[in-house]
Amino acid sequence: MSNFLDWRNRMLQAVWRQGEPISEEVLAWMSEVHDEFGEISGDEFCELWTTRTFSMARSAFEVIQKSVFDETGKRVAGEEFCYVDYSRNLESGPVGVVRFKSAEVSTPDWAEVLGVVAEGVQEFVMDYYVTVWPACSRHSFGLHVDYFDETAVWKCNGGPEGGHVVRALDPSIRL
Ligand SMILES: [Zn+2]
Repeated sequence: MSNFLDWRNRMLQAVWRQGEPISEEVLAWMSEVHDEFGEISGDEFCELWTTRTFSMARSAFEVIQKSVFDETGKRVAGEEFCYVDYSRNLESGPVGVVRFKSAEVSTPDWAEVLGVVAEGVQEFVMDYYVTVWPACSRHSFGLHVDYFDETAVWKCNGGPEGGHVVRALDPSIRL
């Protein structure tokens, strides 16, 4: 077990995450990687980390763009909308980064990826369509991304308790 923890520490250094809080989900995935591939090198791990981040970002974008379309009838995906950038530049860091407008993510954590993608799409919808998305049906405020038990949620600042969680970003998750 200590070999695993040593390896995990080396890998977190390789992706420049040493000393940072790492979600249970990412730690569980690292354990699976170790079970499947053994003590792979830092370079190999950076590849897996990047591939997983990019794959999650694509899935998250599908989820979010469908929410936008279902709720507003507006399209935010397709060739004419080139505001999503997947890049890996080894001079600026060991792993790939996905940028959506001014939001960016480089960690394969589903809640974080979904939250960042939602913020980027939200900014795009505001800039391009001059539309506040999403809005609270009770208070007419625009919602913002928050995190609750490692789940990304839409939160409204309205109401007597100083705010309330409206729903999970991922419609398949019921709170
Ligand atoms: Zn509200």
